Amino acid sequence: MGRHKSHSNRRSRSARPLNPSSHAHSEEKRDGAYVVRNVPADRAMKVYTCPGCLHPILPGTPHIVAWPHEPTGFGHDSPVAERRHWHTGCWQARL
Ligand SMILES: [Zn+2]
Repeated sequence: MGRHKSHSNRRSRSARPLNPSSHAHSEEKRDGAYVVRNVPADRAMKVYTCPGCLHPILPGTPHIVAWPHEPTGFGHDSPVAERRHWHTGCWQARL
């Protein structure tokens, strides 16, 4: 009963081994909600065509991948099938 609360060992660290850029978040666009995930340079190993500017996203370019929360069309079992890779700037310019 007389337990003092133990001193907390929580240290605030600025450098973490965990890569926060791989974390997915959600964004509202004009046509709905999207799941957005950052693709860091070392994970970008293929050439993708950005639907925003129709230019290629070259390997080694940090960019984002986005897909709708809800499938937009028929014939897709999962909204993940509608993933699109975007230049980060093109995605942010999209409404
Ligand atoms: Zn683009």
